[in-house]
Amino acid sequence: MAPLNLVLLGKQGAGKGTQSQRLCATFGLVHISTGDILRAAVAAGSALGREVAAVLDAGALVSDDLVNELVRERFAQPDAVHGGLLDGFPRTIPQARALDEILGENGVSLVINLELPDERVLERLPSRRVCQECGTIYSDVDISAVSGTCEVCGGDVIQRSDDQPEAITRRLEMFRRDTVPLIDFYRDRSLLVTVDGDAPPDDVTAALESVGRNRGLA
Ligand code: AMP
Repeated sequence: MAPLNLVLLGKQGAGKGTQSQRLCATFGLVHISTGDILRAAVAAGSALGREVAAVLDAGALVSDDLVNELVRERFAQPDAVHGGLLDGFPRTIPQARALDEILGENGVSLVINLELPDERVLERLPSRRVCQECGTIYSDVDISAVSGTCEVCGGDVIQRSDDQPEAITRRLEMFRRDTVPLIDFYRDRSLLVTVDGDAPPDDVTAALESVGRNRGLA
């Protein structure tokens, strides 16, 4: 069977992380999140982590060359032979062109644009918390009810450094400038499907699964 490569586009806080985890579990896809890879490098204090830590804190983008290389390496690993679900990549047109080159003749199978208005991003992100160990996301919840310990794995639950007000605004601007052009890029290739991210998470999951099934995922 030809590999299936899905791309999930959306602003920060649109639900990409949560929905990616669910879709990967349902359809048996490998989750490839460049943000998770970079955060893990920062947490591990590796050379890569030391290089990118300040960029992540500021809510800026790391260079195209660097993320392109991370994605190339990830697709070279054995578990990605059947494809993957890309979350947070590509974020720019040059990254989308690099992805075409990385995937070769298989290419991108489907792109889902998870839509959320800016006002909802600004409501959601200040209360978002994430497990440093397993990546479980606690979103749209009463933060006083979120303990510092992950319900899934017992790891530390923290606030992302780039979920601070200044970084949130900067990331929204970058999304408009760098990532919105990708919507047309993939629409022109008839690969784009838009899903409303402002519904209850289970409804969003159901909508995404239905899109996946309509496009041949099992
Ligand atoms: P995310 O978890 O997708 O919001 O990514 C967190 C941070 O990692 C971003 O704010 C960027 O600093 C960096 N990052 C993740 N993916 C990319 C990408 N495709 N291009 C550039 N920087 C990225």
